[in-house]
Amino acid sequence: MAQDIVVVGGGFAGLWAAAASARARDELGLSDALSITLVAPSPFHVIRVRCYEADLAPVRVPLDDVLGPIGVRRLQGHVIAIDVPGHAVTVSGGSPSEVPRSLPYGGLVLATGSALRRPAVPGIDGAFDVDT
Ligand SMILES: Cc1cc2nc3c(=O)[nH]c(=O)nc-3n(C[C@H](O)[C@H](O)[C@H](O)COP(=O)(O)OP(=O)(O)OC[C@H]3O[C@@H](n4cnc5c(N)ncnc54)[C@H](O)[C@@H]3O)c2cc1C
Repeated sequence: MAQDIVVVGGGFAGLWAAAASARARDELGLSDALSITLVAPSPFHVIRVRCYEADLAPVRVPLDDVLGPIGVRRLQGHVIAIDVPGHAVTVSGGSPSEVPRSLPYGGLVLATGSALRRPAVPGIDGAFDVDT
C-alpha cells in the first residue's frame, strides 16, 4: 500500500495540512521516502477572508509559489470518488476528453470546504456575494 499523503482542497485547511505534512516529513528525515500531493481544481489559493475587498488581485495566490519550495506536488482536478478500502481517490481533470485517474494514498486529508449556494429567490441574479 502507498504511504504517500494526498490532500484534497487548496483552501486554508488543505494548504495548512500540506505545509504541516511537509514540515513533519522534513523533521522526520523522510523527504526522499514520502510524497505529498495536493489536489485542487484551481492553480490558485484564494484568501477567502479578504473576498469582500474591492481589488481582488492580491487575494489570489498561486499554489505553486507556496507548494513548490516545500516539496509538495500539485495536481489540478476534482476528486470525484474515494475508494476507502482500496486507499485511492479518483481525480477528474475536468475536460470531457480526459480520462479520470486513480491516485493512491497512505494518508488522506479531505479539506474540500464549502461553496456558495444561491437560493432560488427571484431577482438574485443581480446580487453580489462576498465569497467569489
Ligand atoms: C468574506 C469572508 C470573510 C471571512 N472572514 C473570516 C474570518 O474573519 N475569520 C475566520 O476564521 N473565517 C472567516 N471566513 C471563513 C473562512 O474563509 C473559511 O472558513 C475558510 O476559508 C475555509 O477554508 P477551507 O480550506 O476549509 O475551505 P475552502 O476555502 O472552501 O476550500 C476548499 C478547497 O477545496 C477545493 N475542492 C472542493 N471540492 C473539491 C473536490 N471535489 N476535489 C478537489 N478539490 C476540491 C476547493 O476548490 C477549494 O480549493 C470568511 C469567509 C468569507 C467568505
